[in-house]
Amino acid sequence: MTPLRPAVFLDRDGVLNETAAPHAYVRTIDELRLLPGIGEAAGALTRAGYVLLVVSNQRGVARGLVDSSVLAAIEERIQAALEPSGAHIAGFYYCTHDLDAGCDCRKPAPGLVLQAASEHGIDLAASALVGDDETDVQAGRAAGVLTVRVRPASDTSDADLIAADLPAAAAALLAQPRRAARSISSA
Ligand SMILES: [Mg+2]
Ligand SMILES: [Zn+2]
Repeated sequence: MTPLRPAVFLDRDGVLNETAAPHAYVRTIDELRLLPGIGEAAGALTRAGYVLLVVSNQRGVARGLVDSSVLAAIEERIQAALEPSGAHIAGFYYCTHDLDAGCDCRKPAPGLVLQAASEHGIDLAASALVGDDETDVQAGRAAGVLTVRVRPASDTSDADLIAADLPAAAAALLAQPRRAARSISSA
């Protein structure tokens, strides 16, 4: 059996690209604004052995405000931004359901993280999630990964680590002892 690999799960809006206004969506590719330093940060995480997986709530699809072709175009832009650093998103996972759909994948539920982990052979105990909302933190915690909150609106976050942005989050993660390694060495 292939050994399980560690991953960093990345929220999309607010981590890789600027968020639209509250309760708004990135609806066209022209509205996409990638955040500075994401390529280098993703490259550093890749060199450290992390698989990169995006987990994103996109309720605008259910509401008919976001077309799935736009999601695909955004994926291409993100991959192009990461490529010079040797990084690549291994999979994009979206919850495209509306609030009343009763799905188990809309964050704060952990469904997207668990699905991505199972499809990519991920060791959750050695993994982390980076998000800009407490629902990301809750989803990561429910999935059993280390949680990193970026762009906190205040200093009240339940995340394990707080960072200004993805580059700072990557630096903080890389400075952490690996949890799996730590549990082995303390056994
Ligand atoms: Mg977000
Ligand atoms: Zn869902």
